[in-house]
Amino acid sequence: MKPISRIAAGVQASTTLVIDSLFKQMKAEGKDVVGFGAGEPDFPTPEHIKQAGIEAIENNQTRYTPAAGLMELREAACYRLKADFGLDYEPKQIVVASGAKHSVYIALMTLCNPGDEVVIAAPYWVSYSEMVQQAGAVPVIVTAEEEQDFKITAAQLEAAITDKAKVFMLNSPCNPTGMVYTREELEAIAEVCCRKNIYVIADEIYCNLVYDDIEFVSFASLNEDVKNRTIIVNGVSKSYAMTGWRIGYSASNPELARVMSNYLSHSTSAPSTISQYAAIVALKGPQEDMQVMKQAFEARRDHLVERMNRIEGVSCIKPQGAFYVMMNMKNFLGKTMYGKKIESAEDFAQLFLEKGLVATVPCTAFAAPGFVRWSYATSLAEIDKGLDRLEEFIKNA
Ligand code: PMP
Repeated sequence: MKPISRIAAGVQASTTLVIDSLFKQMKAEGKDVVGFGAGEPDFPTPEHIKQAGIEAIENNQTRYTPAAGLMELREAACYRLKADFGLDYEPKQIVVASGAKHSVYIALMTLCNPGDEVVIAAPYWVSYSEMVQQAGAVPVIVTAEEEQDFKITAAQLEAAITDKAKVFMLNSPCNPTGMVYTREELEAIAEVCCRKNIYVIADEIYCNLVYDDIEFVSFASLNEDVKNRTIIVNGVSKSYAMTGWRIGYSASNPELARVMSNYLSHSTSAPSTISQYAAIVALKGPQEDMQVMKQAFEARRDHLVERMNRIEGVSCIKPQGAFYVMMNMKNFLGKTMYGKKIESAEDFAQLFLEKGLVATVPCTAFAAPGFVRWSYATSLAEIDKGLDRLEEFIKNA
């Protein structure tokens, strides 16, 4: 048979999902494993949002919607962008997609020609580089070290921009680092993007999960030029514990929105109608449930970071948002644990799962070798159990 698409064949399986499925398999086999792999809130979707989904079904709101989403949902997204960040968008600038991941995907498909370069700040969410390649574009990785709080500088960004650069991928708060860019840092980055004439995809999916009263700044709010060249990506998955409903959205200039909508009309047609009705209520309804989740995440983060830094051999910096901690395990590289030489974060994470019965995510695929990501979207009791096991795992190695 003839070879399949080179682009498709080059796509790597998502490491986060691989670890998660191994973890679920061990659990199904009856093993007492603790999971810190999943990137989703452990809370159920709030009751009033679930009811909106149920009502949509009962009211027979089960037909196709416009490709870019229900007008009411696009208005609800505009309402949130104005209320939360003071941003003025019209519904025609909003494109609803099947999850924020899908919004990033169609944004890249809309902006990139084959061979264009997309600058990605590392450590980065594993799907970015894969999606860039699916668009036929080339990822250019700029690394932010732990010593710089995992945030790149404007000078680093500028140095990475060639004539082929088309897009900068920004993610704040960041998965996997949990770090949040300050207004000053964003202004410096924006100045480079405008001067070098590149687009920005600003993935702001964790905008509501920012702690310590730190200010979250939406990139598009910096000025009009920045707003015109930015595609904001957001959605309901993380803020409203709605990962399975699959609703994300983007806000951009009307021309980009029109093209993205056309693209969707020939791929998914539109996201699930039922989920769209639930998302309207999420965005326009009471926001208290989100605050409760946020407070729980913040308390878990404080506990996890404090205890982790007391464990011999590992360390972490305190993240400011999202629900991830990057554990530095570089001390173990080159050492032998349980008869196995640890050459990478993968080796460590695999051994920790097999011997310690704890699932974490090695960050090699996030361009952060030497780190293992813990998601604290799980209970304090589970966090303590995981850390107890980490202590034992290291002690008995
Ligand atoms: N962006 C980032 C940075 C994420 O971490 C995730 C989820 N892991 C997404 C987008 C995708 O969100 P959704 O479930 O809405 O597709």
